[in-house]
Amino acid sequence: MLNDPKVVRLFELLTEAETPALEPVFAPCRDGWVRYPAVEEHLGVDPDFTVRFLEDLHRLGYLHKKFHDRVQFCPACNSQDLKLSAFCPKCHSAHLVRKVLLEHKNCGYIGPEEDFGRGESRLCPKCRVELVLVGSDYQSLGNRYVCGDCHEVVENPEEKWMCRACRRFFEKQDIRELVLCRYEVNQEQLSKLRVERIPKARVREFLTREGYEIQESVHATGRSGAEHEIDLLATKRSGPLEHRIVVGFASAEKAVDSEEVIKLYAKAYDVDAQDIILVASPKLSDDAQHFARHYHIKVFDAEQVNRSDVSISV
Ligand SMILES: [Zn+2]
Ligand SMILES: [Zn+2]
Ligand SMILES: [Zn+2]
Repeated sequence: MLNDPKVVRLFELLTEAETPALEPVFAPCRDGWVRYPAVEEHLGVDPDFTVRFLEDLHRLGYLHKKFHDRVQFCPACNSQDLKLSAFCPKCHSAHLVRKVLLEHKNCGYIGPEEDFGRGESRLCPKCRVELVLVGSDYQSLGNRYVCGDCHEVVENPEEKWMCRACRRFFEKQDIRELVLCRYEVNQEQLSKLRVERIPKARVREFLTREGYEIQESVHATGRSGAEHEIDLLATKRSGPLEHRIVVGFASAEKAVDSEEVIKLYAKAYDVDAQDIILVASPKLSDDAQHFARHYHIKVFDAEQVNRSDVSISV
């Protein structure tokens, strides 16, 4: 799968476009619920493929999967335009009004503050006794719902979700929910890819476009009779002529040394290659560069090859 050019395109998106994460959008359709538009656009693939592709890369350890959002939507029409509505449990009216309630402790009457009078003194509407000291003979119960139709004091209103799109009502547990995840690149794995996989894929892609037939990690027998393992062998035939390019990939911690250059030249010479390319990561040592020039080896460093705007001229 990692030889798929789409993987290279995806990592281009993540590194060059400075897209820190591949973000999902909620998009119910025939095949699924979620889409990753940036990936679809960059790779030119359909939503269904994208979801499976990202999941595969996550499984292989190249992408981290992170919680992004939790969406709730209508079970009938998939709209997210939902509204939580409260109703009076007694008469089922939606006409609930929030009011400050007072309780007259002496007689136990509970009612909205306004019913106790608005003047200097407050009077209990039930027993007509004047309220004196808050906390002692009466207390405030704070905000409560009162039904505007049946005047019931409502402790726990009945709650239903309404879909504004299709105007249907649903119980809380019938609303559908979905967790959306975004993918982020695993930097450690990405640096490996940048050194090994991506340069190889890019060189292969470029030479294929130029009309070459590509063989990877191929064993070729040279004129000397020796067998060589070649990272990438590109062949183009035109009539009786055959053009062969040997491509080698070498990496070292600091710089690739001249031994790699000499070995590559020896192989290429033995298998009759007309051109030699060496992709070095992070670069060639000064000494090795000298040899490469001497043997007419075209040298690229891996980061150079990874940039899509650089073309590999042969
Ligand atoms: Zn009273
Ligand atoms: Zn009511
Ligand atoms: Zn709906």
